[in-house]
Amino acid sequence: QARTNQCFTLSNAFLNEYVFMVQARGIQFRENVKNLGAQVLEQVVRGAYSVNGTDYSYDFNFNDSDAPPTTYLPVGFTYFPSQICPERLPSMKGRLEVNMSEVSLEDVERSLLEVEPSMAFGGYWKPKDCIPRWKVAILVPFRNRHEHLPILLRHLVPVLQKQRLQFAFYVIEQSGTEPFNRAMLFNVGYKEAMKDLDWDCLVFHDVDHLMENDRNYYGCTNMPRHFAVKLDKYSYMLPYHEFFGGVSGLTVKQFKKINGFPNAFWGWGGEDDDLWNRVQFANYTVSRPHGDQGRYMSIPHHHRGEVQFLGRYSLLRHSKERQKVDGLNNLNYSPLVSRRPLYTNITVSLSRMLAPVADY
Ligand code: UDP
Ligand code: MN
Repeated sequence: QARTNQCFTLSNAFLNEYVFMVQARGIQFRENVKNLGAQVLEQVVRGAYSVNGTDYSYDFNFNDSDAPPTTYLPVGFTYFPSQICPERLPSMKGRLEVNMSEVSLEDVERSLLEVEPSMAFGGYWKPKDCIPRWKVAILVPFRNRHEHLPILLRHLVPVLQKQRLQFAFYVIEQSGTEPFNRAMLFNVGYKEAMKDLDWDCLVFHDVDHLMENDRNYYGCTNMPRHFAVKLDKYSYMLPYHEFFGGVSGLTVKQFKKINGFPNAFWGWGGEDDDLWNRVQFANYTVSRPHGDQGRYMSIPHHHRGEVQFLGRYSLLRHSKERQKVDGLNNLNYSPLVSRRPLYTNITVSLSRMLAPVADY
């Protein structure tokens, strides 16, 4: 019975979207339908492996009408070095230009340091005209995306400075021949970043995601946060309610409580859904930026030689049991740490032996 309803809802949503896009998008339409098709398929498969037996809600049309009116401080508002930085600064104007043109890392290093010479080697920065509300470690999982990283830094560094956050970037690069393990890289990045400085807020950031609105504040909240709500590649809709991919953030306290990310997801997919489950089991409710604040563009790319993780659905069925035994507490690794002008690079070779866990 439930299954039939799901399919009905899905095809309806799909049809609405189809009609909408024919009207609104014209030429881009074929690409989008391909994406939507993939989403619908993902939904159907996910439905069959639903974690707690309840149905997923298919939130294709996210409703922003409940967004509270936002008040930003007026231009010329003064704050003091002895005060905590405001969260809604007049310098945060909203819509941002997104520049995806390729650029060398050296050029970005040069131009960012020219504008803001107070950035210390390693990319450490903090505001001088107020006390930062959050100390944010930006963790970026990485392998063979050298053209993306300078684009991200060029885009994001000035925004974080405008948001008056203390921050540094950690690029965690996977070496070796195992499939990519985004989640395990985040765990490694977290552990290394905490050796460096007493960060209180963690942002888990794909290298190819560029925010379109500088009011998308990268500080933490009392609930885990999903930042990348509306992606251009998903026609600016949340692909499914439990989507937790792209860019997310937790306080250090929250991250410890959920035992970090799982280490058992090798290859593309599922690790973000497992994180979502962990957050639910810890009785948190994910918060999201409202309306257009959660918009992102992602740098188009191919999946060169990357493999899908086909075992993800069976792992996701046991998220709860695995949470206690797979995460920050079963992880070993030997990192190679080096600093660049704008970030810390942590190179690590990953293998299954480094995070032993019973077979689920
Ligand atoms: N990633 C990477 N190299 C890879 C695969 C993934 O650096 O070979 C990192 C990168 O930060 C990327 C993120 O993991 O943004 C998510 O992977 P991907 O972009 O392939 O996911 P998708 O775009 O399909 O959601
Ligand atoms: Mn991507």
